[in-house]
Amino acid sequence: MSKIIYNNLSREDLARQMQILNIQKFRGNQIFEGIHNLLYNNFGSFTNLSKDLKDCLNKNGKILQIELLDKFSSKFDSTTKYLFELEDGALIETVLMKYPNRNTLCISSQVGCKMGCKFCASTKAGYERDLQVAELLEQVYFVSRFENLKINNVVLMGIGEPLDNYENVVKFIRLITDERGYNLSIRNITLSTCGLAHKMDMLAEENLPINLTISLHNPFDEERSKIMPVNIKYSIDDIMKSAKNYFDKTGRRVSFEYTLIKGINDSKRHIEELERLFKGGNFHLNLIPLNAIDEFGKPSTDYKDLESFKNKLVKRGINTTIRKSMGKDIEGACGQLRSQRNKK
Ligand code: SF4
Repeated sequence: MSKIIYNNLSREDLARQMQILNIQKFRGNQIFEGIHNLLYNNFGSFTNLSKDLKDCLNKNGKILQIELLDKFSSKFDSTTKYLFELEDGALIETVLMKYPNRNTLCISSQVGCKMGCKFCASTKAGYERDLQVAELLEQVYFVSRFENLKINNVVLMGIGEPLDNYENVVKFIRLITDERGYNLSIRNITLSTCGLAHKMDMLAEENLPINLTISLHNPFDEERSKIMPVNIKYSIDDIMKSAKNYFDKTGRRVSFEYTLIKGINDSKRHIEELERLFKGGNFHLNLIPLNAIDEFGKPSTDYKDLESFKNKLVKRGINTTIRKSMGKDIEGACGQLRSQRNKK
């Protein structure tokens, strides 16, 4: 029989598991609170469980852990990147951004990615596997313990396409927002997708009003397909329909990300098409400067170009902001650190 991974389980699943192990049901709640509220990562830390009980729990399963391999702090801002090794040796990245009033953590959802976006380092070596629920949670809990702080915002924007690991990601959201656990506000969770429209529709039905962000980068199907192969399966029309549906069902405004690349997606034609797409929808556009990475070979975006593009969009009624690029000196964009370490 395979070993139980206790931090993969919901409160209900833990209670069921206790019954199977012939342990009183209420122990399930104690274990849940120990893992998700007190952030214990081994049974040795539990003061409310007897030695016999701990032995039984350890014999039948484990609290899955992740190991810190390296940590890089930016000299320019309060960004810290953690490189974690999972139990099977796979590497993932997690990024902490500290602001005066909040701590935001950007977590990975898969080891590698199969979506093949041309500008992204995470996909270059392909896809290895989905992260388990415990590995998603442990990124938040590890950093909370290690830095002795509370994470206020979680962004699923690291390595991987979160909606391609749908079941585990939904379970993660339910667990991290549990009142008797970490109790993160559901409104402080943001999921970023490359546009898996049918999964966006599924998410809209989950009664989980998280923030949804879609990587758009180009408003024309033909051009977008060249940099984001997923667009061949889900067209921009499909994505816009699902985005409208998501807003209608959850009441959460949907954001679109647009990395401005000189000579590629910054013309008047692109502005006009964006205006057409956004008409009548409760949408928001996040303009992002390109972080020059060797895989893409384009220069970083000039701040003046960003401002000018933004102003043109705002004039046409598109709610637009410029997102600051953080942690440039520590390989800030997702997957860069892991891909360099793997190359070594
Ligand atoms: S941008 Fe996101 S979806 Fe696209 S390849 Fe990178 S990790 Fe995957």
